Amino acid sequence: MSEQITVDFRALGLAEPLLKAIEESGYTTPTPIQAQAIPLALERKDLMAGAQTGTGKTAAFSLPILHTLLPHASTSTSPAKHPIRALVLAPTRELAIQVYDNIKTYAKHTNLRSLVVYGGVDIKTQTPKLKTGVEILVATPGRLLDHVEQKTLSLSQVQFLVLDEADRMLDMGFMPDLKRILALLPKQRQNLMFSATFSDEIKKLADAFLNKPTLIEVARSNATNDNVEQKAYLVNTDKKQRFLVQLLKQYASQQVIIFTKTKLSASKLARALERDEIPCSAIHGDKSQKERIEALDAFKAGSIHALVATDVAARGLDISDLPLVINYEISTAPEDYVHRIGRTGRAGAKGIAISLIDEEEVKYFDEIEKLIKKQVPKEKAVTSSSSARPAKAANKADAWFYQPYEPGQQAGAPKAAIVPAGKPSSAKRKVVAALLGGFGFKATPKASTNEAKRRSPGKQRQKDAVKEQPAAPEIETENS
Ligand code: AMP
Repeated sequence: MSEQITVDFRALGLAEPLLKAIEESGYTTPTPIQAQAIPLALERKDLMAGAQTGTGKTAAFSLPILHTLLPHASTSTSPAKHPIRALVLAPTRELAIQVYDNIKTYAKHTNLRSLVVYGGVDIKTQTPKLKTGVEILVATPGRLLDHVEQKTLSLSQVQFLVLDEADRMLDMGFMPDLKRILALLPKQRQNLMFSATFSDEIKKLADAFLNKPTLIEVARSNATNDNVEQKAYLVNTDKKQRFLVQLLKQYASQQVIIFTKTKLSASKLARALERDEIPCSAIHGDKSQKERIEALDAFKAGSIHALVATDVAARGLDISDLPLVINYEISTAPEDYVHRIGRTGRAGAKGIAISLIDEEEVKYFDEIEKLIKKQVPKEKAVTSSSSARPAKAANKADAWFYQPYEPGQQAGAPKAAIVPAGKPSSAKRKVVAALLGGFGFKATPKASTNEAKRRSPGKQRQKDAVKEQPAAPEIETENS
């Protein structure tokens, strides 16, 4: 192992097998959150950390946990030798999978076992692996409670609890689930809480669940990443789509996530982009978890260049080097802006976040600027009539959209390439997918949805997993 590369991580006091994995991951220096959190976590302090997405927060909590658990690593095949010692709770399946992937990478030279469990897939497939025993379990709250109810796991030996994206968990109505889970854990444990935004609710959660936490903030709370160049265009609603196509042409070689507020508008937009000769493959809530993961993998691998996503679908996505985020619709929840633009400019990379604001959304954007304490430069959008076919009035009655989803049916096979201005038509194809938070749930009442699941957990969740209500113009939420 190169002494030089890991010198800073070595100074943090991490064990050799972890340093080796860090080096293999290509990390040379700890990020600010890692430099601050790792020593404190190694001293077994409770932490409340304000870290934006993309700051390296996963390694900030995973590495000290793995280090502390190393004496418990065992090659024994006996499940009793592998009790759950660390529990990481994440609000969405995507984030849970991502955290688990990171932990697996950092633990690869140890005998510590890890596993991820989340809703939307058959619980039976998770049980055998749980029964073999794992030291580190990453879970979404709902599915964890399903396993508790089915007695397929025990939390009685948990020494570490991590609440990742705690603000998101509260937004998604997980408070009752969190309370239930916390009541099942041993009192003597270390708690690490991470949140991109710090609201009063988050502070209350910290007061309730953490033991004299040390507060770490690598950036001002609710701040946006300085690596991300933020701009906004004022654009009439009926011109938005055309202007978006113009932007996509302008940034033709860049990977991009385009955010909408609802599943309905994400589907419509993906369909409309296709009509504007931008090849689309739509993923929506009727698709299985497997299909969603495949789409994400395709995006990560670069075979899909653009995703149309709702906030829930994109939560926790870590796509390295994502250079561009477009806010096609402005969220009414200002915190979503911080999360959205956190998809770009990760781990020190540069990014661009462009917001398209129509008349109705000016007030929402004002709220965003208040939250981030920053004025985003704005220009009036100029749409060139030749850049795209105008959005058809017929969009509103898009017959395709109201068709039932048929498995395997792509929302239009790629037909044509986006041709960057001045480039010949052989220019690289740009593929667009709509990534919708599958298994959507009505936004209200969140707690009672969870309660319904508690009353009839197995059936209710199975129903949730396979069914998504016909796309309705409602803000999407997700439980798992
Ligand atoms: P996170 O904030 O945990 O989602 O991490 C964002 C990205 O940063 C992930 O792709 C990590 O692999 C990467 N990362 C984490 N720590 C480091 C580091 N010290 N140096 C470079 N990249 C890192």
